[in-house]
Amino acid sequence: MTFTTRFAPSPTGPLHLGHAYSALLAYDLAQAQGGQFLLRIEDIDQSRARPQWEAQIYRDLGWLGLTWPEPVMRQSERLPAYQEALDALWQRGLLYACTCKRRDILAATAAPQEGAEPTFGPDGIIYPGTCRDAGHARDAGALRLNMAKALESLDLSELSFTEDGAGPAGETGEIALHPAQLIAQVGDVVLARRDMGTSYHLAVVLDDAAQSVSHVLRGRDLFEATYIHRLLQALLDLPVPRYHHHRLIRDDSGKRLAKRDDARAIALYRENGAPPADIRAMIGL
Ligand code: GLU
Ligand code: ZN
Repeated sequence: MTFTTRFAPSPTGPLHLGHAYSALLAYDLAQAQGGQFLLRIEDIDQSRARPQWEAQIYRDLGWLGLTWPEPVMRQSERLPAYQEALDALWQRGLLYACTCKRRDILAATAAPQEGAEPTFGPDGIIYPGTCRDAGHARDAGALRLNMAKALESLDLSELSFTEDGAGPAGETGEIALHPAQLIAQVGDVVLARRDMGTSYHLAVVLDDAAQSVSHVLRGRDLFEATYIHRLLQALLDLPVPRYHHHRLIRDDSGKRLAKRDDARAIALYRENGAPPADIRAMIGL
């Protein structure tokens, strides 16, 4: 298998130094291993994706000296593949339709003790299970994974992934998945939002498999999501890449950079005449 890394930005704003770090790390690693670096545009959220941001991604990465094979995979063109996976999971009885609004979920989680805080997992609030046995028609709402049932259908002794970098608590090496932890800390995740026909989690595992990505490099903020990704790989019988979660680039006050931090947008450095080498220096590469 060719050593393959990828950078998978969402075209919902300007790339900043944190993105440059992720992209350069993935690119450098592929170069060092004689492998390939892929670019993928994660534009399933059509309410936020904009062509101008996609165009700027190509300009920024090109300016940084990166090259990638064409055509670039775009998630908005992959909806049939996502649909097929959802069909398979639905037929196995592992999905159910959920009609809850955010406020319903908040109300249900807060119910027993007044003022209790809902628990958050890598996919947001842990879903309280309101619609699990409601028998809603498939197109009635979002599609959620029945986590307990999904776990029962798998041989859990074999579920783990390899972390070459580190998670937020220094997790590294062989990381095992524990059913009780998945139920309590992840729960019934949404695999298809009604407005998108998929979710980030489902799309990313199918795309990494379709592109034969062997090494997933990305920010540490996605470490916990990897548990969901590993579970989906097992359910859908997909190959398992190695993972490398890297440190997050922070601003001077220690806050991690977000898309709205325009002041650190790569485009701004480029327009101000900074050489690409300055970007590498700023992020320690
Ligand atoms: N599209 C995601 C983002 O921009 C990255 C997903 C990934 O690397 O798995 O945050
Ligand atoms: Zn619901």
